[in-house]
Formats: sequence, C-alpha cells, structure tokens
Amino acid sequence: MSVINNTQGITDYCYKMRRELHKIPEFAFKEIHTSDFVAEELQSMGYKVRRSVGVTGLTTVFDSGIPGNTVLLRFDMDGLPIPEETGLSFVSQNKGAMHACGHDGHMAIGLSVARYLAQNPDEITGKVYFVFQPAEEIGQGAKAMIADGLFDAISVDYALAVHLWAEQAYGWLGIPDGPLMAGSSDIQIEIFGKGGHAAKPDLTIDPLYIAAKVINALKDVYPGDDTAYQTGLVTLTQLEASDRRNIIADKVTMAGTARWFDDDMRKTLHNGITEIVNLISRQFGAHANLTFKESTVPVVNDKKVAMVCRQTAKELRVDKANVIVDDKYRTNLSEDFAYILNQVPGAMLLVGARKEFDGTAYPHHHPKFDIDERAMTLAVAILLETVKNLTAHENEWL
Ligand SMILES: [Zn+2]
Ligand SMILES: [Zn+2]
Repeated sequence: MSVINNTQGITDYCYKMRRELHKIPEFAFKEIHTSDFVAEELQSMGYKVRRSVGVTGLTTVFDSGIPGNTVLLRFDMDGLPIPEETGLSFVSQNKGAMHACGHDGHMAIGLSVARYLAQNPDEITGKVYFVFQPAEEIGQGAKAMIADGLFDAISVDYALAVHLWAEQAYGWLGIPDGPLMAGSSDIQIEIFGKGGHAAKPDLTIDPLYIAAKVINALKDVYPGDDTAYQTGLVTLTQLEASDRRNIIADKVTMAGTARWFDDDMRKTLHNGITEIVNLISRQFGAHANLTFKESTVPVVNDKKVAMVCRQTAKELRVDKANVIVDDKYRTNLSEDFAYILNQVPGAMLLVGARKEFDGTAYPHHHPKFDIDERAMTLAVAILLETVKNLTAHENEWL
C-alpha cells in the first residue's frame, strides 16, 4: 500500500474534515447535523450509507470484491456540554457544546480511510465495515447500535478503533494486550443514622461524621495511584446530607464511581467497598445500604489483533514520525467500544496527540482541549495498514 507516499493528500482532506466537524459539536444521540455531514461525505465518495442505526449512528461498507476478512472500524461522533475556550479559528459554533475529546478528529480519520479506499480500491482484500457511532460520552452509543442490528447485516471478523490521546505526544501509540481501559460501576452509598439538633449531637448518630470516616478509609485502601491497576479504583464525588445548618440528618447519601479491569477485580472491589462501609457504619451504631450499577465493561484488546497492530506500527514511516509503541499502557478511563469488542476480537489503539496551549497541555474534556492534528494522519496510516493485514486471509500473522 502506498499510504506512506500519499500522506499529503490524506492530511489536507483530514484536517479540513476535522475543522469543519469541530465547528458543529452535538450531544449524545443528538448528532443530527454531524451524521448528515458524515453521510454526505461518504455518499460523495460513492458509498451507500445506512442511517439511524442506534438513533443517529450510521454505517457503510467498503467491499473490495476479493475474498478476505471483514474488519469493522468504529469512529465516535458526539461532542460534550462544555463551552469552548480555545479561540481556534474553527471554534465551536454551537454555544455550550465542544468537541473536547477528539471525536471530531476520529470522524475525520474515518472519512479519510474511507476516501483512501474509494480512491485505491485495489490495495486491500475483503471488506471494511465503517461504523460512525453516537453517544460514546454517555456509554450508550455502541449498545444502541448493537441493539439496532449492527452485526445483523454483515459478518465481522475483527474490530478496530482509535482514540486520539492527549496524555502522550505525537508518535506514541498505546497498543497493549488484554485490558486497555477500565470497566466502571456507578456506586451509591446510603448511611442511616439518627438525626437531631446540631446543638445536641450526643443524642444523635451523625451519619455525616460516619460518611467522613468512610471517605477517609476508602481513600486509604484505594488511593487511586498505580496500585489501581491491580486493586481497582473507587472515587466518591457526591455527598448529600442535611439541608439545614442546625439539623443533623437521619441519612447521608454518597455516590461515585468504581473502576476495574476484569470480573474478578470487579467482585473483589465491590466486596471490599461493602465491607469497609458496613464495618464503619456498625461501629457507630448506624447501618448502610450500597448499590453498584455496572456502567461500562473494560476495553479488552485481543492478543492476536493487538500484535498485528503493533507489528504494523513498527513498520510505519509517516511524516518522519518517530513511532513509539507502548504495549503496557492502561488507563482507568472507560470507552464503550468495549461492547463491540465483547462481540468480535479486536483492539483499540491510543494515538498520542498532546497539544500545548499557552504552555499547558490540557486534558480531554477541558474547555481548552486541542489535538496535535498530525496524529490524525498517523492514525489513518496505521488503520489502513492494519486493515490491509487483517483483511488478508493469507497473512502470516493471523
Ligand atoms: Zn470523552
Ligand atoms: Zn472520547
């Protein structure tokens, strides 16, 4: 494949698409103009587009006409309810909405891959199933597309997705075996004490005091540092007690999130949290009620597919980028591509895209978040080359 000699054509188109899409961010399941934009682009390349798969999702197929495997490529489309502060020339035109996670870049990458294949149809075998997914940020889009028959129309052998990654610089690729991103549970903890007058705490069982003990104990046991990859992570973010200054509440409610990398870790973590909360509550004569609701499952890379991605990456020569392949990286963040990987073997690739702004590199979901656009060309190249390797039946790595 001649991607390496042809990056300028890819780059110009890809940047243009990203900047157009950056102007029109829309929220989860409301990607109306965004999906119209993507559909029209694909149609102008000659693709037949299937709309409204999972509300605003859309799909199309590149068919080489030559027997080979089918590879699904997932690109997410939703923006975030964040007022943009980048001051970019292509700043969001939708007040209060922003592409602050890089999904504008993901769609541009997807369109660029589709365009390249439309223009160079003889370079691969098999089929490529393009999936433009809504509502990644609320963890619902992939599930909605699957429920709407994502896998009914076509039999898929492998799946790939990329995420532009602000933690790492251009040239870095995170492609580990096994879990890459965490599964998450929503936690709610209620502590029932005995309320009363703030001036008579000795006559009460103060659930807020007990909640403070619980918060401290959970932080001691699950500090959220590197040990989180072995033990799991719990972070409490919400606390609701009395609505009066002079009344001690009967009950305190806390909520937060737990993150884990496999089912055993999930069970151990849930049990550990439950034990700590119950033990402390009982110690003070209170009792507690805990609920855990699974929010997303972990993103788990298939070993064979991840290996093909890494081998492909090592052979890439794009824009003189020094490609660094990190096969150990993990993050406590979550991604709903996990549900697609539950159905077919595949891999998610993180693509370093850190961009400094006034001397600071802002994280995903920040009003000043931006990406190093060069990372998009690298992502297009690695997807095209990996697809070429995965669709070929006779590939030595499969
Ligand atoms: Zn995000
Ligand atoms: Zn994202």
